[in-house]
Amino acid sequence: MDGKLLIFSAPSGAGKTTIVKHLISVFPSLEFSISACSRKPRNGEVNGVDYYFLTPEDFRQRIENNEFVEWEEVYPGLYYGTLWSEVRKIWDKGHHVVFDVDVKGGLNLKKKFPNNSLAVFVMPPSIDDLKQRLLKRGTESEESIGTRIGKAEHEMTFAKQFDKIIVNNQVETAFAEAEKVVTDFIK
Ligand code: 5GP
Repeated sequence: MDGKLLIFSAPSGAGKTTIVKHLISVFPSLEFSISACSRKPRNGEVNGVDYYFLTPEDFRQRIENNEFVEWEEVYPGLYYGTLWSEVRKIWDKGHHVVFDVDVKGGLNLKKKFPNNSLAVFVMPPSIDDLKQRLLKRGTESEESIGTRIGKAEHEMTFAKQFDKIIVNNQVETAFAEAEKVVTDFIK
């Protein structure tokens, strides 16, 4: 039987990955959907754990073969998407799928699965806070931070189209809020 889909979207650096990881450690029936992407792994990232790292050619071939539930060019020349095989695998285990995708991808998934999905927007307290987080993470070049901030400002205008908004002001409060949202959704 098909399980449910729990979609988390947020501007890059808003802290959604921390929230998603926390939820997965708390709820055994939740399983993270590993996306495919065409960017190179960052230091410490592992293929099949963080992403399925595909070459741009392989990614394009799989688009042609209709292997994606949803895919997108998230940044110019960089493709990200969810493979049907991933969702199937998780549902077949009787688990619910958790997505950590960008805002457009999140809304596309919600539209595609209107009856069994919940879309949550993780809101950074402010753009300045977001910039500080990205700088602290230290994984992005200055140019990449600029791109991400620009995209974040645009993405925040879509928050109200989501089913729930969690403001990530204080991590403990955000965790508690997220746990409540999930409990209500999967019961
Ligand atoms: P990063 O390069 O920082 O890992 O991810 C960049 C952006 O791509 C993030 O906003 C992330 O949520 C988004 N992303 C990751 N996987 C997917 C996916 O499968 N589909 C879509 N649409 N976006 C994704």
